Amino acid sequence: MSIPRIKKGDTVAAIAGVDAGKSGKVLQVIPGLGRVLVEGVNLGKKTLRKTQDTPQGGIVEKEKPMALSNVLLYCPDCKKGVRTGRAQDGERRIRKCKACGHAFDS
Ligand SMILES: [Zn+2]
Repeated sequence: MSIPRIKKGDTVAAIAGVDAGKSGKVLQVIPGLGRVLVEGVNLGKKTLRKTQDTPQGGIVEKEKPMALSNVLLYCPDCKKGVRTGRAQDGERRIRKCKACGHAFDS
């Protein structure tokens, strides 16, 4: 089984879509759909029904899931989304930035 390239809590950068270049924290990974929910990225307007809590109804901005292929792991050293490779760290397999060698998962 392959290990997901991106997991919850990672910081990723969007590389496509209206938010290309933005980065944020992964809130949720939806493996079945190959999508991720990224904090503050790919916001969509969502209309609220009128309820007791929100008697006016209204519109809120909420993250929409985006395709895994449209995000890259954000490297704090390169300051951008990067491709990653795998490396062995003792017993563990870790992800490393292909550009600068920054070790994720450490
Ligand atoms: Zn890097």
